Amino acid sequence: MDRRAFVHTAALTAMNLQTLDQLTAAQPKAERQPAIFIGHGSPMNIIRDNGFTRSLADLGRRHGKPGSALVISAHWLTRNETSVSVNPKPPTVHDFGGFPEELYRIEYPAPGSPVAAHEAAAEVSSIKVHEDHEMGLDHGAWSILRHIWPEADVPVFQMSIDYARPPQFHYDLGKELRRLRDRGVLIIGSGNIVHNLRRLSPQENDPKHMDWAVEFDAWAGQRLAGNDHSALVHYDQQGPAARLAVPTNDHYLPMLYTLGALHEDEHIRFTHESFQHGSISMRCFESLSQN
Ligand code: ZN
Repeated sequence: MDRRAFVHTAALTAMNLQTLDQLTAAQPKAERQPAIFIGHGSPMNIIRDNGFTRSLADLGRRHGKPGSALVISAHWLTRNETSVSVNPKPPTVHDFGGFPEELYRIEYPAPGSPVAAHEAAAEVSSIKVHEDHEMGLDHGAWSILRHIWPEADVPVFQMSIDYARPPQFHYDLGKELRRLRDRGVLIIGSGNIVHNLRRLSPQENDPKHMDWAVEFDAWAGQRLAGNDHSALVHYDQQGPAARLAVPTNDHYLPMLYTLGALHEDEHIRFTHESFQHGSISMRCFESLSQN
């Protein structure tokens, strides 16, 4: 390289470094977004102001607004396929029956995030993830998001649960999604650790909690605190309490996505614990980095 060429290259490098500095100053380094599990309970929580809904509002305040949110909800089940919603304007789906009229009039007009949904689909290599152009936001998603980000200004997309698959599949799929958290996507599993609609107390705030519900919720709480993911994936080995607490696993599986999405150096922190209707565990948690 002659001297002129060297000076020219050096000047270009200096300019590039300066440009790079400006770029990094303009775009603060993306922070890792949390992985969260929410026990969503009854649709009545949409209009409640209670300890549970206040814990959701607190999540929104503490974590701010991510680039987008991915929700894996108990209320979007598919068979023999996994889909992501790529609808840019997902309608609010009122997928519940027998509740006060007021609940059916509430809309949650958050935009979709087709770009982040494409990215999520591309991140999964173990299966082909389908793109769904019609899906709106089910109540497992919007009933909680309404309390977390009331302004409905965080783009949201959902991923369906392939109900034909065993628990391990869902935990492993959560692992494939975890890298999205470093690209501005906050991941939420929305279900309930204990959920048996045939064994509800008619009283929403019944102070008496059913023994089997308390037993299974406490067992899961201990395993969560101890990061024992394998036991939680194999919950069905926990005997009669497990059979009553998880008679069908549609509400349990979203938690396995959140667990899968944890990084090796993370554990969890409980953000809420209570029961509704004497048996629905409202236990919620978020990822917590060790450092
Ligand atoms: Zn539900």
